Amino acid sequence: MNSERVEAKKKFGQNFLKDESVLRKIVEAMPNSDRKIVEIGPGLGDLTKFLVNVKSVEAFEVDTDLCKRLNVTFKDEIATKRLRINCGDVLEAWQSTLIDEPYDLVANLPYYIATNIILKALADPMCKSLLVMVQREVALKFAAHTGDKVFSGLSVITQSVGTASIVIDVPPSAFDPMPKVDSAVMLIEKQRDRSDKAFEEMLKTAFSQPRKTLLKNLSSRYDKQRLLEIFEELNLSMTIRPHQLDTTDYHQLYKKI
Ligand code: SAM
Repeated sequence: MNSERVEAKKKFGQNFLKDESVLRKIVEAMPNSDRKIVEIGPGLGDLTKFLVNVKSVEAFEVDTDLCKRLNVTFKDEIATKRLRINCGDVLEAWQSTLIDEPYDLVANLPYYIATNIILKALADPMCKSLLVMVQREVALKFAAHTGDKVFSGLSVITQSVGTASIVIDVPPSAFDPMPKVDSAVMLIEKQRDRSDKAFEEMLKTAFSQPRKTLLKNLSSRYDKQRLLEIFEELNLSMTIRPHQLDTTDYHQLYKKI
C-alpha cells in the first residue's frame, strides 16, 4: 500500500474506513455469486484490497488525486484486469445500467449522495445486490417495515424489489477522519426489478407529510373524490397514516390511481 498521508476532501464525502474488523465483516457478508463486483468510491483502496482478493472489481472514483494513487497501488491487479478503475463521477457514468453485465455493488458510499446511488442501483437491472455502508439513519429507512416510525417511500421501493437487512452498526471511530454520524452496513438482495418512476412519484406524495393522513397527502396531487372511492374499494381507513400501509397495499393503491 502507498503509505503517503492523504488529506481527506470533505466535498467528496471522504471518510476512510480504517477498522480491519469491519472490512472483514463486509467481505464475509458478500452474497455468494460469480458476478463481478462494482465498488463506488474506492478511496485509498482499503476495501478494494480485500475485494480484489475475492473477485474482479470495477471501481468508480471521482477524485483524480486518488485515481492516480490507486493506479500505482493496484498496478498489478490493473495489469491482470482483476481491477478496472473508472475515474470520474459515478452519477454521470450511470445511464440505465452502470456496467453491461450483472454485478454486486459493494461500497463504503459517499454519504452526500448515498440515497441517490442506492435508488439508482435498485433501478439498475444489472445490479443484483447492494452491500453498502451508509449513514445509519439512512440504512434504517431503507430497511424499515410497515408500522415502524421510519417506514417511508424508500422502504416501500426496497421491499418492491427484494429484502434489506442491517449487517453491522459501525461507530465513527472506525473511520479517518471520523464522520459526525453513526454508520451501518446494509445488504439489499434484489429478487426482481424495480417498480416504475410513476410509482415512486406516488410514494413521494404519500409520504410528503409523514404525520398527516395518507388521504390528505395524496389529495394534494390526485382527485379527492376518486381517492375516497379507491380507499373504500380497498377497505382502507380514511385516517390511516402513510407508515401504516404495507408494500402490497401501496401497489394496489397505485394500480387504481
Ligand atoms: N472506499 C473507501 C474506504 O472505505 O475507505 C472510501 C470511502 S469514502 C466514504 C467515499 C469515496 O467516494 C471517496 O473516495 C470519494 O472520493 C468517492 N466519491 C465521492 N463522490 C463520488 C462520485 N460522485 N463518484 C465516484 N466516487 C465518489
